[in-house]
Amino acid sequence: MNAKVWLVGAGPGDPELLTLKAVRALRAADVVLIDDLVNEAVLEHCPDARIISVGKRGGCRSTPQAFIHRLMLRYARHGKCVVRLKGGDPCIFGRGGEEAQWLRERGVEVELVNGITAGLAGATQCDISLTLRGVARGVTLVTAHTQDDSQLNWQALAQSGTTLVIYMGVAKLGEIREQLLAGGMAAETPVAMIENASLPQQRECRSDLSTMSEDAKLFELKSPAILVIGAVAAATQSAQYDLPSMATA
Ligand code: SAH
Repeated sequence: MNAKVWLVGAGPGDPELLTLKAVRALRAADVVLIDDLVNEAVLEHCPDARIISVGKRGGCRSTPQAFIHRLMLRYARHGKCVVRLKGGDPCIFGRGGEEAQWLRERGVEVELVNGITAGLAGATQCDISLTLRGVARGVTLVTAHTQDDSQLNWQALAQSGTTLVIYMGVAKLGEIREQLLAGGMAAETPVAMIENASLPQQRECRSDLSTMSEDAKLFELKSPAILVIGAVAAATQSAQYDLPSMATA
């Protein structure tokens, strides 16, 4: 029996940001297990598939991970083409790695398909270049949410000189600010908070490290949102940045 599961990234929300490979997997699917941050519009590519919602939003009652594992295994062993559809990229805060390992240990073939992760999409949709030349030499993707009590090395993050893109941070804005300030990041460091990136209801709130919690409150920032922290998040970035002239190049 040639059991196979596709672990597919559906991108940040805009159905046009789906990859061609994701569309191919969806077209072949008999069963689609869908997370709740996935835009259901992408299901137009699998009209005949059985759709099972297995949402896992933070804080809410959610489908236990073990149940999702077993469901994928059962369908795959029945010879079904299974697509596990996740928001963004399956391997960026998406458990893609652990699901792939669990299935492979049980003899199931797994193929991972990239999606555009929300942090990268959100920045680009707001005209923020995360690695703007001369301003940021890198980007660090971080989650503010942990299931254990492990601590991030905030001081290292504050001093890394890279743009920070923080996922699952809406409920932790105060803590993030305190930790980064304590770690030596400048209070006036620009911050962009981007809600529902790439969707028609996308909203962005520009702020800085010292006032981001208050600004987010006034703005009524809600999850899902990403935070972009660093000089590249300045609202006036594109105006300030002189592109090298093509004429003199
Ligand atoms: N695998 C996903 C991330 C899942 S973690 C990815 O690669 O994008 C869930 C977090 O992703 C949310 O709390 C939020 O921080 C972020 N997120 C997902 N979709 C988003 C969107 N459309 N706009 C802003 N943030 C989003």
